[in-house]
Amino acid sequence: MAERFDAVVVGAGPAGSMAALQLARAGVSVCLLERGPFPGSKNLYGGVVYARVLDGLLPGWAEEAPLERFVTRRVTMVLTATQSLAVDFRSSAWGEAPYNGATALRPEFDSWLAAQAEAAGAVLVCSTTATGLVRDGAGAVAGVVTDRPGGEIEAGVVVACDGVNAFLAKQAGLAGATDSSHYTLGVKQVLRLPEGEIEQRFGLGPGEGADYEILGGTGEVPGGGFLYTNRDTVSVGLVLSLDGLSRAEARPEELLAELTAHPAIAPLVAGGEVVEYGAHLIPEAGLEMMPRLAGDGILVAGDAAGMCLAAGIWLEGVNFAMASGAAAGEAAAEALAAGDTTERGLRGYEARLSSSFVLADHRRLRRAPALVLSERVQRRYPEMVCNLVEEMFTVRNPAPKPGLLRLARQAARRSGVGLGDLVRDGWRAWRTFG
Ligand SMILES: Cc1cc2nc3c(=O)[nH]c(=O)nc-3n(C[C@H](O)[C@H](O)[C@H](O)COP(=O)(O)OP(=O)(O)OC[C@H]3O[C@@H](n4cnc5c(N)ncnc54)[C@H](O)[C@@H]3O)c2cc1C
Repeated sequence: MAERFDAVVVGAGPAGSMAALQLARAGVSVCLLERGPFPGSKNLYGGVVYARVLDGLLPGWAEEAPLERFVTRRVTMVLTATQSLAVDFRSSAWGEAPYNGATALRPEFDSWLAAQAEAAGAVLVCSTTATGLVRDGAGAVAGVVTDRPGGEIEAGVVVACDGVNAFLAKQAGLAGATDSSHYTLGVKQVLRLPEGEIEQRFGLGPGEGADYEILGGTGEVPGGGFLYTNRDTVSVGLVLSLDGLSRAEARPEELLAELTAHPAIAPLVAGGEVVEYGAHLIPEAGLEMMPRLAGDGILVAGDAAGMCLAAGIWLEGVNFAMASGAAAGEAAAEALAAGDTTERGLRGYEARLSSSFVLADHRRLRRAPALVLSERVQRRYPEMVCNLVEEMFTVRNPAPKPGLLRLARQAARRSGVGLGDLVRDGWRAWRTFG
């Protein structure tokens, strides 16, 4: 006989654990399914959790969650093959509550989040993959099929938090066919270094962390890079356009090797022992790829709903996953209590998201992915700015210093940037981020 719960949540990532937590807190019987042997075992990301969303849901997270370092230094870096230019921002306020962000390793962080859901009453079942949806006579989603023998689980609501591939949303008819231009591939390695060495190299105090976001350094492939400090490891990686990889016939591991050999990065990671290497897809297209968020008996949250914010200066997904998962859990509990789990009964989900940063940020930044991945932003502007700065600081005595305007014109010309491009892209950037 099939098992029965009021709700089943598929995927114990940040979205799924938050959905299960809010359902369990509302007194709903909820099963949290995870295909990995434990939560986080299959999950890969860069490394920073922006945790403000936890303040209300799990106060005390800063003391209790398994965090690596509180980020106090944020470096935004532009790279060409031989140059680098960085805006290096530090804030001691970020080293105190309310913290802005912290580095964390996903196996530990995701396990901790799932344990909070369990403590509230959710039943966590690992090493179990949801392979399909169960439907009732009217065609509404009424549970999931799993890969366990006879492993059907019936439920009034399914919350699909199964990550970027979104198999369940596709099966429910909520998401369209996959479009490769909507995805980037994240590739990352974790390098072990002594704790004190990390603090010395990155100029950090004990417990403080650094977050580097990098534009350029991806060869011919549109994308970007990152470098984060953990307690005794550093995470370094690239985010690469899938279509760009295939067009350039480039190999991600070769591009990552080039990044770690770059003169601006090599001294920071030198001598690190590789303890982890992995790759994972990122839903990059924001609003453009977002599926319908609810159907009869089903809600979709987190990466499965394309709710990752990858907009150049930001790479945030865990906070969007936690907030959308919590909203899905609350809306599902409300619908179960009202005895209406149709799409209409579940509309509280979208209403919650619309009044939070989750949809507000995606709507506001809807033009960002196209702008950030455009050829000029990726290649020509980094080159132009680095050339301009190099010329500005190269001392050519006995020749007198040239005017800055002349240098700027020269740098733009050398990088193939016209005045029209600057005006057009300036206006696009203003409309996108302004
Ligand atoms: C390289 C890279 C760097 C990133 N850097 C950052 C960063 O620094 N900060 C940040 O906030 N975000 C970052 N992100 C984005 C972030 O990782 C995601 O947005 C976030 O993990 C989404 O959470 P989720 O719960 O929706 O999905 P996931 O974290 O993907 O969780 C999905 C879960 O579902 C399970 N699952 C999948 N299918 C099934 C199934 N059929 N049955 C049962 N279980 C299933 C998986 O095993 C997994 O545990 C990065 C992503 C990548 C790839």
